[in-house]
Amino acid sequence: MSSTSVSILVPLTGPAPELPSTLESVEQYLQTTGFEFDVRVLDSRDGDGYGAMIRRGASEAKGSVIVIVDSDLPYPVNAIGDAVALIESGSAEVVFGNLASASSAVLRWFLVPILPDPRLHLKAFSSDAARLLIGESKINDGGFDLELAYLANKYGFRIESLHANSNANAKPSFGAISGFRSVIAIRLTDRSNGYRAPRRCPVCFSSEVWSWAQIPGNVVRACSRCKSRYLNHFDVTDDAQPVRRELRPNAPAAETSDETAHAQTAREKTSFSRLAALRKQVASRARILEIGVRDGTFGAAASREYEYVGIDTAVAIARAARGKGLEVYCSALTGFVNTGPAFDAITLFHVFENMPDPHDALARMKDLLKPGGVLLLTTFDTEGILYLISERTRMAHNFRTHLILYSRSALIELLEHSGFEIAAVSPAFEYRDHRFLRHWVATRWPALAPIANAILRILPDPLLVSSGSIRIIAKRRAGPPMDVRAIRSVEPTHAR
Ligand SMILES: [Zn+2]
Repeated sequence: MSSTSVSILVPLTGPAPELPSTLESVEQYLQTTGFEFDVRVLDSRDGDGYGAMIRRGASEAKGSVIVIVDSDLPYPVNAIGDAVALIESGSAEVVFGNLASASSAVLRWFLVPILPDPRLHLKAFSSDAARLLIGESKINDGGFDLELAYLANKYGFRIESLHANSNANAKPSFGAISGFRSVIAIRLTDRSNGYRAPRRCPVCFSSEVWSWAQIPGNVVRACSRCKSRYLNHFDVTDDAQPVRRELRPNAPAAETSDETAHAQTAREKTSFSRLAALRKQVASRARILEIGVRDGTFGAAASREYEYVGIDTAVAIARAARGKGLEVYCSALTGFVNTGPAFDAITLFHVFENMPDPHDALARMKDLLKPGGVLLLTTFDTEGILYLISERTRMAHNFRTHLILYSRSALIELLEHSGFEIAAVSPAFEYRDHRFLRHWVATRWPALAPIANAILRILPDPLLVSSGSIRIIAKRRAGPPMDVRAIRSVEPTHAR
């Protein structure tokens, strides 16, 4: 037996609803599913509208899933089960029933990209989503559906469309004109703070945030103030045990192998160019901490001239790097305890994006650095042109490992508020070998592959390319940082 309880709301909106057969088939169907259920027929009291009916019904509904069903049931009754399954499986918190043909492109443009179908009432909500969305709604007429869609976006609920095989011929709940009137009403209510604010941006604490894209199992949120993008839910286990650095009596012997003796891989060449940038900032034999060591190529290069320490959260990576003779600990930044003197420089190459709390991370890095110490980090730039043109197609890929993607201005502001001063911001180039580039072109634009191959033949291998990333060099200020945490202690950040 399932413990799922379903509350069915049937608003009576049509002129002559064929209600008895609807109720009978819904109840018969739900009995076969094993769900606990209750069905509420909502009629118009005192001439109040559709929105008011739903609010009244939802306030009394006790189910863990709340489903709104059309009174004439113009689709197979198992669509209800499909909607409940989407909510129960956790793949969505809000489900909108949709017909095949998409419409209302103009309304989508003015409001939010995902709207319910005006010809269907079929919708399902998790009880949390229903409480917040229906509770915050204000509109009484058919524009209520648009308001739900707007609020679902505002509060970062994950929405799925359910294609209902329907022969609906009911009056649409909103048309182009009435819909537009509702859009204006919704926008005005929002502008006058008529709706509760969503959880704030984790980078700049602005509440001007909205859902930017729905990706499998998650929602990407965007901040209109600092232009950062971030995942709605972080699945981060933050129970890091402290890992103490073990000081060694002697620094590892510097290898004197000639870097140019053998053909370098793209990764090695990238590491050397990063090292060259670091060399301009710190003297030789300086103490360097790398956070996120990856394949250890930077560590191998850096340990020849610096006292190198690396940390990485992945056991296998830390072990492989230790196998190369590097001083690498399997630790998160939060758990790492430096028992030696403070570091002269900290480097992070595309790692800062994976940290769930940027303010905490920067405070810890500041503690690990000596005053005047250098922070060198590379990251995507969500304001960069290359990022912007490829963003939509690479959304799910970008957020497979990353939690927050920063804009250049957000990072600069964040660093300055965390006790650093910016020394330089420049584009970050990386080396890619021809095999990678050929594959990259062939999978995206197969027609261009012969031309690209011909061009590559006359270019050096590996080739220096830009992925739209930036390199920021910042220095630890001596004075105390501004207290941004005071803001955070008042308002919770993140979705809802
Ligand atoms: Zn922000």
